[in-house]
Amino acid sequence: MILAVEDLCVSFDGFKALDNLNFYVEEHELHVVIGPNGAGKTTLLDAICGKTRPDTGKILFNGRNLERMLEYQITRAGVGRKFQTPMVYEDLTVFENLEISSPKPRGVVGCLCFRRDSAFDEAIGEIARTVFLDSHFERKAGQLSHGQKQWLEIGMLLMQEPELLLLDEPVAGMSAKEREQTADLLREIARGRSVVVIEHDMEFVKAVAHKVTVLHQGKMLAEGKIEKVQQDPRVIEVYLGH
Ligand code: ADP
Ligand code: MG
Repeated sequence: MILAVEDLCVSFDGFKALDNLNFYVEEHELHVVIGPNGAGKTTLLDAICGKTRPDTGKILFNGRNLERMLEYQITRAGVGRKFQTPMVYEDLTVFENLEISSPKPRGVVGCLCFRRDSAFDEAIGEIARTVFLDSHFERKAGQLSHGQKQWLEIGMLLMQEPELLLLDEPVAGMSAKEREQTADLLREIARGRSVVVIEHDMEFVKAVAHKVTVLHQGKMLAEGKIEKVQQDPRVIEVYLGH
């Protein structure tokens, strides 16, 4: 197990956004979180990545307690977080966006060291291929489609070599073709990492999920394989039926 969230409570002005939640992620698992608006899905990711402090509960990642760490420390520990709207540098090229996302310092010394430099460029090329942007290296990020920006941001996260990737609605606003490609991308990513994805598109969820957790009012309503969760009468009532 790579992540264990136990008895997690997060409240905003007395309102319990997460209410004694338990949530577990296995190594190399692609774990999808679904549930109605306001269920606490984004809050769960915010708590894991250190953006929001939990009131009580534990968040164990690779045996370390994240709930005491700051956001940048959690990133360094190996957790990458993608927010709902793509955050890329519009005036920089695809290559430059990936380059500046590397955690390794690349100052004057780095530039003098050619061998390491070419390996670094190869690593960028590999990630650009993975996120379908290798033929767009020199384009400014601002010229990319919405879907391509989402992919670029995923590529920027991959530059940090996270062990756990948290993605909030990555296919929202994508075309059908882009959604299919993103499903392939997430399957590829999960071969070497754990991924938690929040998503509403059930076709997409079916295509990628190893395991699904349904959140409702800050609590876990159902959990398991998508086929099982889809048939759960409580899930149909609060979410799928609408
Ligand atoms: P979801 O992502 O499942 O749609 P959220 O986690 O964004 O839900 O929100 C869960 C609940 O917590 C909602 O009722 C939302 O209004 C509330 N909430 C989330 N963030 C904040 C905040 N920063 N301040 C106050 N209330 C918040
Ligand atoms: Mg949300």
